[in-house]
Amino acid sequence: MAFSFDTTYKNLDSNLYSKVTPKSIDTPDVLLLDDELCADLGLDTAKLTTEVLAGQDLLEEPIAQIYAGHQYGSFTLLGDGRAMILGEHVHDGKRYDIQLKGAGRTPYSRRGDGNATVSSMLREYVYSYAMQNLNIKTSRSLAVVETDEAVKRRRTEPGAILVRVMNSHIRYGTFQYVAGRASDELQRFTDYVIDRHYPKLNGTDRKYLEFFDSVMQSSIEMVVDWLRVGFIHGVMNTDNMSIDGETFDYGPCAFMNYYDEETVFSSIDKHGRYAFGNQRPILRWNLERFAETLQPLCAQSALTYDELEVKLNEFGDRFDEQYYTMMRKKLGINSDDEQELVDEVLEWLRKSNADYTNTFLELETPGTFDNPVFATTEFEQLRNKLAAVGLDEELMQEANPRYIPRNYLIETALDEYLETGNLSKFNGLLTVLEDPYTSKDMGSQFQQPPPREFDAEYTTY
Ligand code: AMP
Ligand code: MG
Ligand code: MG
Repeated sequence: MAFSFDTTYKNLDSNLYSKVTPKSIDTPDVLLLDDELCADLGLDTAKLTTEVLAGQDLLEEPIAQIYAGHQYGSFTLLGDGRAMILGEHVHDGKRYDIQLKGAGRTPYSRRGDGNATVSSMLREYVYSYAMQNLNIKTSRSLAVVETDEAVKRRRTEPGAILVRVMNSHIRYGTFQYVAGRASDELQRFTDYVIDRHYPKLNGTDRKYLEFFDSVMQSSIEMVVDWLRVGFIHGVMNTDNMSIDGETFDYGPCAFMNYYDEETVFSSIDKHGRYAFGNQRPILRWNLERFAETLQPLCAQSALTYDELEVKLNEFGDRFDEQYYTMMRKKLGINSDDEQELVDEVLEWLRKSNADYTNTFLELETPGTFDNPVFATTEFEQLRNKLAAVGLDEELMQEANPRYIPRNYLIETALDEYLETGNLSKFNGLLTVLEDPYTSKDMGSQFQQPPPREFDAEYTTY
């Protein structure tokens, strides 16, 4: 068998999911398969046939999950509209959802067609691959399978299925759905999630309070990691917030080039709700919505809502502490203070709009980039101040990627594929992103930011 399935989600209340069948595909074509992920999951690639990856050869009945969520601030009932979980694969005592994205309609598709375009699934593949190798907790992409139908979006292109792997697809929004039901269902579901993701909390006397604390902590770690590498998720709706702190749903995401906290690339994010610098306050807002879902549990346990609020109010200090710890590492500072110096660097970035990634590489090794922004006396003075307390190379090399998936490189690689069917540029990008903390010969072509005009007009969707 290709996977070792033991799908515990099916033992939960049956209103939480629907049994579904992937659409039939005549000539599926595997474009990409992540061999390293296969190895991590203990999968025998010989048994991972195209039919298995395309959902045409099923080991058991797939399910689509129901959930709710605040989308751009408005509460909506949702569910997997174009995603189906084939099963929970168990390997080495770890459990993974194996999910197909773009495998057709489900009871939650609303007006959607259940499909995905090949360029959007290739995009998700490269971003999740980059995030994984940047050591950021993320969903992973096992394979991209091109399908035989044409899918119409901004342009018409082939459809594709992404095989996505996560610890689970349970999100804040799943709790938002369950909270609207009977409180015994909420308690059963919360106990399930604790068993699955935070089993150490079993036996603690404040289990549900500790659960909230743990979700807050893993989410803070996730967003601090995004800020470390300049990642803009683009659509931090509560249905896209994993309960286990896994980055997921790579839709209109992108990496920031020129430092500007107001950077937004998503075409639908008209007001900048999910701008780079808003990710911290939005996380707090999302955690408030999540805390509200636990309110019905308060009546059933020793928990009070006041206690949840006290935890929530720790958010700001905890986030900042972890943010500054991260920034000190980026600057190679081996101490617990120097917050003012970090703020000075941030102020310099705001004023100069320098490339975020390259600034830290230039601080580490002056002269790396031939760019007037790094030739100013202001930058030199800043570097001298940092040299007195930091710039520890080892710390910096762990925190500062040499390569990020630059938006224009991704678009060029996707255009090449759509125009010629050739994945060579795409595979070139994957090669540098395989180990983004290590410099490669010929790697400098992947380090340049695009012209500012490109970023000013660039939109994702
Ligand atoms: P997202 O903004 O990607 O988180 O998607 C929001 C919701 O819309 C999710 O519940 C998706 O399952 C659903 N959805 C997105 N695209 C489609 C589609 N093409 N067909 C059906 N449902 C979709
Ligand atoms: Mg989503
Ligand atoms: Mg999406």
